[in-house]
Parts: sequence; C-alpha cells; structure tokens
Amino acid sequence: MAKYDNNLIVIGGGSAGLIAALIAATVRARVTLIEKGAMGGDCLNTGCVPSKTLIRSAKIAHYQASAQRYGLQAATPQVDFPAVMRRVQQVIATIEPKDSMARYRELGVNCVAGTARLIDPHHVQVGDERFSTRSIVLATGAEPVVPPIPGLAEADPLTSDNLWGLERLPQRLLVMGGGPIGCELAQAFARLGACVTLIDMAPGLMPREDDDVSSFVERRLRAEGIDVRTGHRAVRVAASTDGSGVLHADSDGGEVEIGFDRVLVAVGRRANTEGLGLDALGISTRADGTLDVDAHLRTAVRNVYGCGDAAGPYQFTHMASHQAWYAAVNALFGRFRRFKVDYSVVPWVTFTDPEVARVGLSETEAAQQGIPVEVTRYELDDLDRALADGAASGWVKILTRPGSDRILGVSIVGAHAGELIAEYVLAMTHGIGLKKILGTIHVYPTLAEANKLAAGAWRRAHAPERLLRWVGRLHDLLR
Ligand SMILES: Cc1cc2nc3c(=O)[nH]c(=O)nc-3n(C[C@H](O)[C@H](O)[C@H](O)COP(=O)(O)OP(=O)(O)OC[C@H]3O[C@@H](n4cnc5c(N)ncnc54)[C@H](O)[C@@H]3O)c2cc1C
Repeated sequence: MAKYDNNLIVIGGGSAGLIAALIAATVRARVTLIEKGAMGGDCLNTGCVPSKTLIRSAKIAHYQASAQRYGLQAATPQVDFPAVMRRVQQVIATIEPKDSMARYRELGVNCVAGTARLIDPHHVQVGDERFSTRSIVLATGAEPVVPPIPGLAEADPLTSDNLWGLERLPQRLLVMGGGPIGCELAQAFARLGACVTLIDMAPGLMPREDDDVSSFVERRLRAEGIDVRTGHRAVRVAASTDGSGVLHADSDGGEVEIGFDRVLVAVGRRANTEGLGLDALGISTRADGTLDVDAHLRTAVRNVYGCGDAAGPYQFTHMASHQAWYAAVNALFGRFRRFKVDYSVVPWVTFTDPEVARVGLSETEAAQQGIPVEVTRYELDDLDRALADGAASGWVKILTRPGSDRILGVSIVGAHAGELIAEYVLAMTHGIGLKKILGTIHVYPTLAEANKLAAGAWRRAHAPERLLRWVGRLHDLLR
C-alpha cells in the first residue's frame, strides 16, 4: 500500500479549511493546512467581521441622529471615518489569534504559508516543497466578481476585498448590487454620512427573499435617504483617474446617468478554483464556477473533496464550517462510512437594520416547488419589548404543513432577527413543532417572546372549536 506524509491536506485557511483541519487534527490524523494569504480567509479579513464591525459604528451614528425619538436631543454624527476603519482593523486583530497558524500548530495542524497546486491526486506543490497525502480538501473560497462593464475597471472599483483599506468616506457612493452585501454596506455607508445610490438590474432587492421582505428593506433604505434604483442595468462607466465617474444605466428602455465619487461592486462572488491544477486532474467546475462535488462533497477524483464557498451552493461562514465537517470526515473515514451533507435546515441572516433572518422555505419557494403551506404572521408592533425599544416594525412569518404544527420555514424581519431565528433553527433541526414552542416559557419582556406569540397566533387559528363549544356549555351548566 502506498505511504503518504499526510492523511489530509487542506488547501485554504478560511472558515471551511480551518474547521476541516481542526477536525482532522482532533481525530489524530496527520494534516497539513496550506494558506496563501491571511489565515481566517474572507470571514475574518474582508467579510463578516469587518462588515459587522462597520455596521455597528453606523448603527451608533443612526441612534445619534434619531435620538429625538427617544426623548433625547438628536445630533448630526461627527463621523471620524479613519477611526471607524481603525476600529474595524482592531476587531480583526483581536479575533485573529483564534485563526492563526500559531494556534493551529498548537492544535496539531502542520501549517504552511504559500500557494498550493495539485500535481496529482496525492501530491500538492507549494513553492519548492511537495507534500504527499492520502486525501485532499479544497477550501479555497470565493472572490468578488467585477462584471466586464466598459469603463468599470478604470474607475478603480471598491469590492469587499479592498474596501477595508478605504481612508476617506466617499461623498457620493454608488453601490452596484442589491443582494445582502450590497444592502448591508449601502445602509452602513449612508448612516456614516455618504450619499448612497444603490442599483440593481433585478426588479427588487434581496431576490432570495419573499416580496414582502424585499419591499420592506427597499422602503427602509429609501426612508434613510438611499437612492434605490432597481430595474437599472449598468451599461458603461465614464471614469476619471481619481475613481469618480458617471455610470450609464438602462432603465425602462431609456438611459440614465448616475454620478459617483467611488463605486462599490457587490454583484456576487465566484469560487476560487483557478491555478489549482484541477483541469489536468479531471476535476470539473459547474457553470457558476463552484467545484462539481457530489452529495458527499467529493469531486470526480475520489480522494479530493471540496467545501465552503469554493463548493457552494451557500456562501456563508456557518455553511462553510458545516460542510467542512462532512468533507473532512468523508475524506478521512469515507472508506468505512460516508455521510451526505445535510442541507435540510439552512439559516442565514442579512444584517441590515432591521435584520432579515431566514430558515427553510420561503412562501415563493413553496409556491415554486408546489409545496402546500399554511402561513402564520405575527407583527412586531404588537410586541411589548419591541415597542419599548422603539423597534416595533417587522414580523415573524412561519410556514407550516397544513393541518400540522411542523415548521417548514421562517422569515423574521426585525431588530435582532438573527438571534430570534435560532429558536426555529433548533426546532426545525430536531422536529420540534409550534405547540412545543408555545409550551415553552419565554422571558417577558424580550424580543424572543415574539416566537411564542407567533406560535400562539398559529394555535388560535387551530383552536378546537367543537371542544370549546362543548366546554362553554359545561360552564353554563355549572354556573
Ligand atoms: C462583505 C461580506 C460579508 C459577509 N458577511 C457574512 C455574514 O455576515 N455571515 C456569513 O455567514 N457569511 C458572510 N459572508 C460570507 C463568508 O465570509 C464566506 O462564506 C466564508 O468566509 C467562506 O469561507 P471559505 O473558507 O469557504 O472561504 P474563504 O474564507 O475565502 O477562505 C479561502 C482561503 O483559501 C485561500 N486560498 C485560495 N486559493 C489558495 C491556494 N491555491 N493555496 C493556498 N490558499 C489558497 C484564500 O487565501 C483564503 O484565505 C460575507 C462575505 C462578505 C464578502
């Protein structure tokens, strides 16, 4: 039998690769993790962490500007943008040791800095060094797409990769792309004082969500002064050397011009699979660029696996680590037992204010897939804590199987929706229905109480009318 230096080589030290390597080291496999850039990947360096840190500063600015609603004198926020961006870097630096090579070496992972390329299914080259291995996990992530719109590249576009080095707040910021990243950043920059235009060629923002969610977010962004232009297809950019310019866009058959000082492109992210030597090995990619992996996350080369943004279909940190478990376990133990990735309960959150949280089916998806559902909606303007907090807009929408309390999907729009959704994720994962949520004590007054009240709304719609009529008659007799 062939002998290898490693049981597993993991390429990429982002959310997916770190977990894959950690699992391998935990089960005492010999594992090498290769990272060409900063450990922690997108999430720590250019994604979740910096964006949520920026959003926090923007929220504080928003509180300041809207303080009058709370009986305090409002003030125009004096934004020290370099200080905001320094705070972003400080938070990254505080978290960084958790993802560092030093920590992973302590945990038993052989960490190598450099760009990896597959020589054959069992050998990986990094610079002058060659490593042999029984299995490989590709966790090389994704990068922002800059569409080939004439003149755009000359405008020195910002993307989530280079945004965090920005030194001055652009006065006029054009955000291209009305998906979650575009909406989050458009709102944050507007709250920090930029004059923001958000364009998307789709008819609505956040196309993955139901229309009620999408139009709610659009109204909110408009109310905060963002010029939202849906149904606008970017055609060309006339750029100046300083990054400013004019975007020409098609709208309703006519051409409109939108001036900007900087343009931020957030139209999607494409898997990083170039330069890995995959073609020569017969490892194919799908039309969207993600690795063509099977339900066990295996590529066409049976000892090479893929996970995270490189494999898709979800581009979230929590999905990257969820998949990493399957990729690592299947790569190490697949000869004895293989596991199919479980995508049955996938949650995500868009960190606009208010937040938008989702798990499972939306109404649109249920209709498209011909799945009958019953919809229960609870409005947050009924929730005591939301009223006290001045955050009484939004709702909890629950999709159940008709005639049953089994949850098929939940959308929450509201303050801390990302925290509230956790209860439904747990419930759906473990087959807990709405009756059990209703039977659980929720602390008063909390936002989480919305979940119980939503379950109560479902219960009222399913009250046992015949039994209640009978009990009513019994009380009449007993009076
Ligand atoms: C602005 C923004 C905000 C986001 N916010 C959220 C959020 O709030 N919540 C959420 O869940 N997700 C969020 N995401 C998505 C999240 O960041 C990604 O889903 C996650 O980081 C994917 O992890 P990954 O390990 O697959 O890839 P990555 O983190 O990209 O890691 C891949 C690593 O592989 C390395 N690599 C690539 N090729 C090679 C090679 N040949 N050799 C060696 N190393 C290589 C790269 O340098 C990189 O470090 C956000 C993303 C962005 C851009």
